[in-house]
This record gives sequence, structure tokens and C-alpha cells, in this order.
Amino acid sequence: MKFNTALLHKNFSGEQASGATLTPVYQVSAFSHSSAQQLEKVFNNKAPGYAYTRISNPTVTSFENRIAALENGIGAVACSSGMAAVTMALLNILESGDEIIVSAGLFGGTIDLFGDLKSFGIVTHYVEQVTPSTIEPLINKNTKAVFAELIGNPKLDIVDIQPVAELVHSYNIPLIIDSTTATPYLVHPIDFGADIVVHSTSKYVNGGGNAISGVIIDSGNFKWDTSRYKGLEEYKKFGKFSYLAKLRNGIWRNVGCCLAPFNAFLNSVGIETLGLRMERLCYNALKLAEFFETVPSIQVNYPALKSSPYYPLAQKILQGKGGAILTIRAGSKERAFELINNLKYSTNATNIGDTRTLVIHPSSTIYAHSTPQQKLSAGVYEDSIRISIGIEDIADLIEDFSQAIEKADNKK
Ligand SMILES: *Cc1c(COP(=O)(O)O)cnc(C)c1O
Repeated sequence: MKFNTALLHKNFSGEQASGATLTPVYQVSAFSHSSAQQLEKVFNNKAPGYAYTRISNPTVTSFENRIAALENGIGAVACSSGMAAVTMALLNILESGDEIIVSAGLFGGTIDLFGDLKSFGIVTHYVEQVTPSTIEPLINKNTKAVFAELIGNPKLDIVDIQPVAELVHSYNIPLIIDSTTATPYLVHPIDFGADIVVHSTSKYVNGGGNAISGVIIDSGNFKWDTSRYKGLEEYKKFGKFSYLAKLRNGIWRNVGCCLAPFNAFLNSVGIETLGLRMERLCYNALKLAEFFETVPSIQVNYPALKSSPYYPLAQKILQGKGGAILTIRAGSKERAFELINNLKYSTNATNIGDTRTLVIHPSSTIYAHSTPQQKLSAGVYEDSIRISIGIEDIADLIEDFSQAIEKADNKK
């Protein structure tokens, strides 16, 4: 099955009982059963079925099955947000005293989260670039995970995951990849050795900017050493499903960060057009990036440009494509603001992966809580603008940016 066919048919075939072509929205909190015996079985994982939507719901299950199959995983757990997915993916295996190694070019919310985890005794080590040589010196007996964004948002640095996965596996440590900005259209991180993949499905999977959600996908490949990951001991009997079983029966259900059925439905509608949208978005992003290269007052960063230091990696693991985000530097904060304010078609909003083009000044918004050093490491400068490209006609977008730059130029 090729990609666009898989979006519609892999691990999905509508609803057999009614013939509904999409799994309907099961907008209920609880599911009744014919006898107390039956509910006992469902509650204790002895019979298939649903009991309570915080634990599972058919609309959510349908979405989980589709995205797990799409990412070549053995299963998925959907969450109320991308941040919940990042948090749960880690807390499922971490305890006080543990350490993680992460890339510095992370999404601002994730950096803030790692700050919060400090008070629970979890130590985060940042490296400028996740490579075997940068992480190896930081590994010790307490290191329990390496975490990176495949394409950093908004630094747009790319992790060469295969050599990193090989190194961390030699130390019995799992590699957790946030693949939100890469999407399954560009790459399946599991094929390159990632053990756990997380997405903020609020972004490209949903695709229409209409629901917040996240997902955790397990490759089933990591061999959990339960003398190091003690919490998994109890779930050993689930074999390769032990990580997912612990998540579902443990912290994820107890924290209660379940995905709402209606949002799962919106994601299932959205995912079907992921291929079409990404094809258009990558095309538009490259064309706009090439336009910026011709403008002397603008510096552009986009991985599929030959001028990008990540061009070779984009060829190697992203099929030569660069994704749907680009960043530009406008010269100063004032000029960046002026440019944003003069755009007609681009919406000034903190999101990515919408159908419409979105722009934001990250330094004064998403990274407002970060230190100057954290901002630099995340590739966020005072004059940076992040552009999340939309599906508009590229000629209109180029014309719009062109007039906005001209107005900003005339202002100074
Ligand atoms: C947006 C984003 C998140 C957080 O997701 P939410 O759905 O907003 O909670 C995490 N990682 C990356 C790379 C993101 O872009």
C-alpha cells in the first residue's frame, strides 16, 4: 500500500455493524454491559469491550489504530494534547533520580516541561545537536531516555536518527522521537530505529487547526530491561506490548489526559488528506524559501534549500523534502513586527499545520519564558519569524510577503 492509499485503508475499514464509512463519534462517557460478570471481565482486560471513555472509546481507538499503522508501530495511545503525549511518553518510564538527554532545539512548551520535571527529581541534559558523539559523554547509569524532535520546531535542525538509535541501544536506552513537524508523510522514524514516536496531532495530522491532541506510538522493538525500568516488571507478561500496557493501565489513565471522541473524529477526517496537504505544503514552502533567497534584507532557513546545513540530511531521510515550516530573519524585532503586521493572507497565530498560512514572532511569544541562551540554542533570534505554510496559491503568498517586506523596508 502506498502512502495515500494507506491513509484511507491501512488498519481501517469503516464500521462493519452499520456500514458507516467513518467511525462515528461515540459521544458518551460510559458503556453498559449485560451482566456484572461481563463488566468485571472488561475491567480486568479479560474480555474486549469498552467501559469508560477516559480509558477507551471506539472513536478514539479507531484513530489510534490508523495512526499506529501509518507509523509502522504496534499500537498507539491518544492524548488530550501533544504536551500530554510528550509528558506521558516519558513519565511512563521515568522515576525520581533519572536523567534524560535531549536536543536544545525543542518546541518551547517541551523545554518548559523539562523545567517542571526538575521538581520531581528528573534531570535534563541538553545538547546543541543530537549526535552519537554529543550524547555519549553524557550517558550514565541513570540515563533512561534520549528525546529529540526529528525536525526541530522552529530551529529546523534534523536528527540523523539511525546512528543515534544504534548508539543509545548499545547502552540499553530508548530513543523517543517527536515527529510532529516531519509527519509520517516525510519519514517513519521507527524505520530508522526510533523506539517511541510522539506527535502533536493538533498540527499536521488534524490539518485544519480545529482540535488539540497528541499521540504516542510504540515500535514494540525496545527490549526493556526491568532491572533498570522497574515499573515495567509488572507488565513483562505483555511481551512487546509491555510499554503500551503500562501506559494504558497506569499513568496515562490515572492522570486522565484522554482524547475527546469528537476530537479523535476530527483527526480521523484530517488524516485522510495528510498526503495531499503535505505535498502542497512542501511545494509551497520550497517556493517561498526560494523567493526569500532573492531578497537581500531577508535571511531564510529551510532544510530543503541547498544553502541549508541540513540539506544532505533532508535528502537522506526526508526524501529530499523540507516540511512545511520555514523561518526568516528580518534584521530586527521592529522590522519583524512590521512585516507580520503588513501581511494580508498570513494569520498571526501560535500554531502550525493549519490549512492557512500562519506566522509568529517566536521570541516574544512561544519562547517568552526562555532564557537568552535557551532561545539561541533553539534557533530563536530577536528578528526571527516562523512561517507555517498553508495551502493557498503560492503566487498569492509570494506577492503578499513581497509587499509586506517592501512596506517594512520603506518604514526604516
Ligand atoms: C505543538 C507542538 C507540541 C505540543 O503540542 P500541543 O498539541 O500544542 O500540546 C509538541 N511538540 C512539537 C514539535 C510541537 O510543534
